[in-house]
Amino acid sequence: MRNAQTMRFYLKTIYILLGLFLFSFTTPAQERATAQNGEGIDHFLQRHNRKGREYKKAFLQLNKNKFGKDNSLLLDVKYKLPPLKGDTVEEEKPINKKMSPQLLSEVKEEEEKDIKYEKSRKGFEPLFGKAYARVQPSSQILRGACFYLVSGHGGPDPGAIGYLGNNELHEDEYAYDIMLRLARNLMSRGAIVHIIIQDAHDGIRDEQILENSKRETCMGEAIPFNQVQRLEQRCTKINGLNLRDPGSYHRAIFIHVDSRSETERTDVFFYHQDNNAKSQKLAETMQNTFAQKYGASQPGRGFTGTASSRNLYVMRHSNPVSVFVELGNLQNSEDQQRLILSNNRQALANWLAEGFVIDHSQYAKQSKEKSTKSIKSSKKSTRKSESKVTQSSKKQKKASTKTTSKKKSATNKEKQKK
Ligand SMILES: [Zn+2]
Repeated sequence: MRNAQTMRFYLKTIYILLGLFLFSFTTPAQERATAQNGEGIDHFLQRHNRKGREYKKAFLQLNKNKFGKDNSLLLDVKYKLPPLKGDTVEEEKPINKKMSPQLLSEVKEEEEKDIKYEKSRKGFEPLFGKAYARVQPSSQILRGACFYLVSGHGGPDPGAIGYLGNNELHEDEYAYDIMLRLARNLMSRGAIVHIIIQDAHDGIRDEQILENSKRETCMGEAIPFNQVQRLEQRCTKINGLNLRDPGSYHRAIFIHVDSRSETERTDVFFYHQDNNAKSQKLAETMQNTFAQKYGASQPGRGFTGTASSRNLYVMRHSNPVSVFVELGNLQNSEDQQRLILSNNRQALANWLAEGFVIDHSQYAKQSKEKSTKSIKSSKKSTRKSESKVTQSSKKQKKASTKTTSKKKSATNKEKQKK
C-alpha cells in the first residue's frame, strides 16, 4: 500500500518535471523591462528590438491595465515584452483570436493614432521633387481644411498645345506644375491636401519649357484616353477620399490653362458649380483676390477675368464644393509669359492659395456665428421650459442643461455632415 503510494508520488513528480521540461522548450522565458522617463510605447519597443504593429498589439495585450492615460508607460511597472519573432513562429494568430472587443478597439485606436502621427510628421511630399519635397509649416491657418487638387488632362491627353519657337507647350504639364505649387502652399498652412493627378518623375520644375510626358496617373491608376472615363476616374477618386476625410471644409479645384485663338488675349477665369452658393462664393473670392493681386503687382493692367457658372462634367460629378480655373491662353504670347516663368507660376499658385485662405476663414467665421446662434436659441428655449416648470428642483435643472448640451452636439454634428 505504502509502496504503491510512493510509486504514484514519483510518477507524478516525473510527469510534472517532464511537463516543465517540455514547457521550457515551447515558451521562451518572459522578458520584462521598465520604461525610461517620458518614453512612449513605440520608442520603448524599438529600444528592445520590437518594431512594428504586430509587436505593439502583442505588447498591449500582454500588459493590459498597466498603462497610464492614453496608454502612456508607467515608470514603476516591469512590462512584459512580446517574444521576438523567430522565438515563437506562430505567436500572432492566437493573439488576434483571443483579443477581447475592448482590446481590439484599443489596438485600432493605437493604429489610427500611428497613422495620424505619421501624417502630421510628414511635412514631406516626394511628388514635389527633391528640391521642394520638404515642406516647412508656415502657419496653421488651414488646419482642418481639406483639398482635392486636380490638374487638367494628363496621361495620354496633353490638353491644349501652344507653340514657342520650336517648343510645344502642353497644357497638362503647366497645369500640373502650378497644381503642385498650390498643393505645397496649402500644406505649409496646415491643410490636408490630396494630389489627385500625379507624376512620380516631375516634381515642381523651375524651367521655362516644361518637358512633355505621358506619365501622369490618377493617384497611381493609368489615365484612360476616353474623355468621359478620364473625368469619371478623377471624380470617383475625389468622392471616395471625401467620404473618409475629417472636418467639414472640403474643396476641390480643377486647374486648366487652355488655349483659345492666337490673337485673343485671355485672362484668368473662374467657374463655379450650378446652383451652389458655396462654389459661387469660392469662385468669386478667387476672382476678387486675383483682381486685387494684379492691381497691386501690375497697376494699370486691368484684370478682366470673371467668375461664372459653367456646366462642366467634373463639377457636376464631384461631391465637394469645387472651383474650375482657366489660367490663360497657351497660344497668346503675353499669356505664355504668365505660364513659362516659374516665378509667375508660383505667383498664380500663391494667389489661388490666398483665395482658399479667405474662403476658409469666411466659412469658419460663419459656422462659428451659426453655432453661437443655435446655442443662444437653445438656451432661450431651455429658459422658457424652465420658467414653465416653476420652482423646479436642482435635479430637474441639471437634466435640462444636459438636454441642451445634447442638442448642441447634435446641431454641430449636423453641420459637419453638410
Ligand atoms: Zn484644359
